[in-house]
Amino acid sequence: MKAADFIELEERFGAHNYKPLDVVLTRGERVWVWDVEGRRYMDCLSAYSAVNQGHCHPVIRQAMMDQAARLTLTSRAFRNDQLGLLYRELCQLTRSHKVLPMNSGAEAVESAIKTVRKWGYQHKGIPENQAEIIVCANNFHGRTITIVSFSTDPAARGGFSPFTPGFKIIPFGDAQALEEAITDRTVAFLVEPIQGEAGVIIPPAGYLRQAREICTRRNVILILDEIQTGLGRTGKMLAEEHEGIEADLTLIGKALSGGFYPVSAVLSNAEVMQVLKPGEHGSTFGGNPLACAVARAALKVLVEEAMVENSARMGTYFLDGLRRIHNPLIKSVRGRGLMLAVEFYPEAGGARPYCLALKDCGLLCKDTHRDNIRLSPPLVITREEVDWALERLAEVLEKPPC
Ligand SMILES: *Cc1c(COP(=O)(O)O)cnc(C)c1O
Repeated sequence: MKAADFIELEERFGAHNYKPLDVVLTRGERVWVWDVEGRRYMDCLSAYSAVNQGHCHPVIRQAMMDQAARLTLTSRAFRNDQLGLLYRELCQLTRSHKVLPMNSGAEAVESAIKTVRKWGYQHKGIPENQAEIIVCANNFHGRTITIVSFSTDPAARGGFSPFTPGFKIIPFGDAQALEEAITDRTVAFLVEPIQGEAGVIIPPAGYLRQAREICTRRNVILILDEIQTGLGRTGKMLAEEHEGIEADLTLIGKALSGGFYPVSAVLSNAEVMQVLKPGEHGSTFGGNPLACAVARAALKVLVEEAMVENSARMGTYFLDGLRRIHNPLIKSVRGRGLMLAVEFYPEAGGARPYCLALKDCGLLCKDTHRDNIRLSPPLVITREEVDWALERLAEVLEKPPC
């Protein structure tokens, strides 16, 4: 079968809820992927940061195969010999006290929302049905009904009402707005340390520190959604470390499995998580031994192969290179670690034509919010590979795409 045949099948039988670039991939290794016609590409999206460890990392693959041959699913009706080990390793790595394992990122967000609401009723004495959670404009936290209820993206919400109440939206990066939005019914502030899907929006320096201070002073739980920024993407294990703070709840997912399997988690301090009692929340697949074994290996290689440090080093080098690309249509170039973006002025006519041209040069990346190209290669990228990417980017971005 040819690429066109696979594409035709997807179009004919699949829901059309994505508009992918027409490249049909069949194999991956580290930062590289190959299409069904044998062409090689550098993956500068990393499945939205789910393959931080690089495609098909051999250590994670081996852990997955070994565990798959032993035991895959017990449900939480019984215990298994991987879950406790993952808990301990995650807590040591992230200075957390408690872990709630789930599968997708959206499920981790939903789990956090349930937890903080319950905490608000039990610990703050908020009247039933009155709990409020503050979120930011242009957020991305997932796709469930409750999560799109507090999205400001018309495409994410349109036609999906009625929505879940209990959310208040404030501008991102504005600590004063947070201070003013808090009432005696506020249970939590949910925020991304850097807004990923919005186009890699980095808040003003000190924002997270101020948010931490405000939440502590007003007895509001700070929830950081690090599903995309966490696990090395920004050059630290968690993005909160850039401002030396600790969230009360931290959400991770995506790279927690190195791209092998959906695994997510809510990391918590001891007080908040203890409101959940047996039977009040759960998931058939959450915390299953296969997920745990994969996640343990994914965390192990992240640390042992110094991927977080490499992300910081290569991120700075990549950003410097991007800044040397000259095109009057480029409005800004920004990033932290290997979470990078190039933004065009509206006159450029959108970033997608550039992404198509980059694909033809062997570099895969994604346009986001029309005018941005997001660049987030696997954290195992070498200096030579960054140079390779920068050559292609200079070639395509310095002249308008045809
Ligand atoms: C991807 C993402 C999610 C949702 O994760 P899924 O696994 O797709 O449900 C939530 N928050 C952020 C910041 C994300 O980037």
